[in-house]
Amino acid sequence: MPKTLFDKIWDAHVVKEIAGGRQVIYIDNHFIHEVTSPQAFDGLRTRGIDVFRTNKTIATADHNVPTQNQHLPIQDPLSKKQVDTLISNCEEFQVDLYGLGHKKQGIVHVIGPELGITRPGTTIVCGDSHTSTHGAFGNIAFGIGTSQVEQVLSTQCLILDKPKKMRITVEGQLEAGVSAKDLILYIISKLTVGGCTGYFVEYAGSAIRGLSMEGRMTVCNMSIEMGARGGMIAPDEKTFEYMKGREHLPSGAAYEALKAQWRLLKTDAGATFDKEVSFGAADITPMVTYGTNPGMGIRITDKIPQLDSVSFNKSLEYMDYQQGESMENKTVQHVFIGSCTNSRIEDLRLVADFVKGKQKHAAIKAMIVPGSKQVELQAKQEGLDVIFEQAGFELRQPGCSACLGMNEDKVGAGEYCISTSNRNFEGRQGPGARTILASPLMAAAAAIEGKIVDVRKYLS
Ligand code: SF4
Repeated sequence: MPKTLFDKIWDAHVVKEIAGGRQVIYIDNHFIHEVTSPQAFDGLRTRGIDVFRTNKTIATADHNVPTQNQHLPIQDPLSKKQVDTLISNCEEFQVDLYGLGHKKQGIVHVIGPELGITRPGTTIVCGDSHTSTHGAFGNIAFGIGTSQVEQVLSTQCLILDKPKKMRITVEGQLEAGVSAKDLILYIISKLTVGGCTGYFVEYAGSAIRGLSMEGRMTVCNMSIEMGARGGMIAPDEKTFEYMKGREHLPSGAAYEALKAQWRLLKTDAGATFDKEVSFGAADITPMVTYGTNPGMGIRITDKIPQLDSVSFNKSLEYMDYQQGESMENKTVQHVFIGSCTNSRIEDLRLVADFVKGKQKHAAIKAMIVPGSKQVELQAKQEGLDVIFEQAGFELRQPGCSACLGMNEDKVGAGEYCISTSNRNFEGRQGPGARTILASPLMAAAAAIEGKIVDVRKYLS
């Protein structure tokens, strides 16, 4: 029987079938951070049990960390408590922590692939919605709730219902100025925030294969924003090249042997999905969101739709936008380039290349936050920090930063931020903050002009 990539990996991880059609699934790697792990560790303590597989549990501090003066004590009391609790829990339960001050600390979904812990064919979970990012390497990766974090810490397994399977195919070549972020914002705008509920998505087609590994991570990252349980892309030579030499992977013949296994990880011809949709890359332009969910996005050349719906109007009211308006020339006060969606070295290189020799608009506060210490170091070694500084951008230290208002990097009430992150919910970047999701290039262009523009005008 031909099988999908998802079925191949899922079936290989079934420990046992249980009543009601549910299954016990083995989890290869469990990432944890300071926000969703404290209650789970408390649960273990109450029950008097240890972490079952400490060598398969990887912790990092990312959500609550400041992005400047990381050598100093954390100022915000709540953030400090969260990070301190993670440190003491990791010490007590003997879990490896990539905490503040560690030379490989960073956002959980950036450091996993960077360290070579994220591998094809595995199951990966984290108490974090955007765990789907790791699926770019051809694995089953998904976010879990706090009680499930405790379940995995104590058993390295989860009791799950098997999700349905969906394939999203994008054929063709993206034009210059159109990136992976535009591609996924376009897909979400077409399928809506509930369009993939109950499904695990495999992305396929020449446009997906044409993306770099960083781009594939951007796409898989936002799968959750259309309700999908996760997203995955079959591994290929690009995947293996990206992974080669990473810290947690073997080298030489042992790596070649792994590659031989990983090459089998693809959907067989004739395998069936519960749902299939396809798009053409030629229809995708730079995208921006105009509302308060990631599905409320348009091509920069389009106008805000005219819809008669209470929630739609409420969303526009929050953003102070009108139906039928263009998003071009809308002013913003903040530019945030970072988050687990777009904070990798490729994103920073792209932005540096664009802003080199240009100057940020005087009214804009522009912040670039690398996804990890390794990205930060690499950016400095390549001289990107100098380019950013000369252009008036502030290069910060790694963390989730302004992706969410859980640390010191917040956007003021009523202010607009064009952001490369993945969520534009009301108050996501701070109480009353207004978020416009876009690609790193679109964000960089807005920083230069002080307003939203079609970045392609610079490229033609
Ligand atoms: S960068 Fe944002 S979306 Fe990603 S893990 Fe951090 S808070 Fe979550």
